[in-house]
Amino acid sequence: MSMNRRDFLKAAAVGGGAILASQAVPADASMPRELPPEAVGILYDATLCIGCKSCMVNCKIQNSVPGGALYLPDRKELPYDFSSPDNIWDDARDLSSKTVNIIKVCKNGTGEHKDETENGFSLVKQHCMHCISPACVSVCPVSALRKDPKNGVVYYVEDRCIGCRYCMLACPFRIPRYEYESANPRVRKCQLCRHRYDAGKYSACCEYCPTGASIFGKVTDLRKEAAKRLTLKPGEEYSFPVQTVDSKEKSRRLVSKYINHLYGMKEAGGTQYLLLAGVPFEMLGFDKNITEQVLPDLTWAYISKIPAVIATVLIGGAATWAVTRGRNKDKEE
Ligand code: SF4
Ligand code: SF4
Ligand code: SF4
Repeated sequence: MSMNRRDFLKAAAVGGGAILASQAVPADASMPRELPPEAVGILYDATLCIGCKSCMVNCKIQNSVPGGALYLPDRKELPYDFSSPDNIWDDARDLSSKTVNIIKVCKNGTGEHKDETENGFSLVKQHCMHCISPACVSVCPVSALRKDPKNGVVYYVEDRCIGCRYCMLACPFRIPRYEYESANPRVRKCQLCRHRYDAGKYSACCEYCPTGASIFGKVTDLRKEAAKRLTLKPGEEYSFPVQTVDSKEKSRRLVSKYINHLYGMKEAGGTQYLLLAGVPFEMLGFDKNITEQVLPDLTWAYISKIPAVIATVLIGGAATWAVTRGRNKDKEE
């Protein structure tokens, strides 16, 4: 028998901690270590990004339909509010429950020169990294976050979520966001547009990117493309694929200077979202404490105790509620 959000609330309401104890089994500790066979992902090249935010626009549009990461069944329109003139421009400053992909500008010193560290700036595209061994999946006590065994996409099963938000604490990249403003809150994050694959489509952000800064494809191909770029010399010409890694459409332009590092190749055990940049990744907001350590190895020891803790608290709460109710009834009689 599986437990969903409704069952959980029912169990909590009627003091069904014992039911929870038998249901709230954390995801298997043995998270994958290798790329799934058909792993897909995104390569973002900050040196090609012009900050147009087209990717953000199409992310919101294409994810507002059923199956999309921002779909709100109770609100059929886009997940931002056009009703007030003040809200005509959706000017997101950070990831939120309404914004699962954001382009940010990161500056150093005077911030005058693009893709340079000294007095420079760089753009960065922030969304779920689709970790090969996702910490969010490993800590979820009811498997509301899952990793697709074939394509490796880390996705969310809304009906199972109990709102504990362990995923938010566990994610080293601080990605999942919560609908605090909602009466029926959900976790929100990029799901790599998996709802579009059956129709032969791919990530909406890459579809709208005019420069090839964001390209979708098999992770193995994206790694090869990135490795090739790291061998190019600054100033030489190169045909950058646009939209997908195997696209016939190319953008021919001069190569910028890269930091010799493909971010996501090894960080946190490897990720399916990969990044190239002209400046150090710390400058782009990536925590330098994120190493090659596979995080579920660390989280498992703690999280494996949590269902028992939740169940104990609920059983205790239910018992207290029953005793108090009994006493009140006696008094009334
Ligand atoms: S980046 Fe965070 S939310 Fe995304 S898969 Fe990794 S741990 Fe999960
Ligand atoms: S893959 Fe889809 S959900 Fe993720 S950032 Fe791109 S458009 Fe948004
Ligand atoms: S659409 Fe492409 S170029 Fe424009 S902001 Fe997004 S990643 Fe950068």
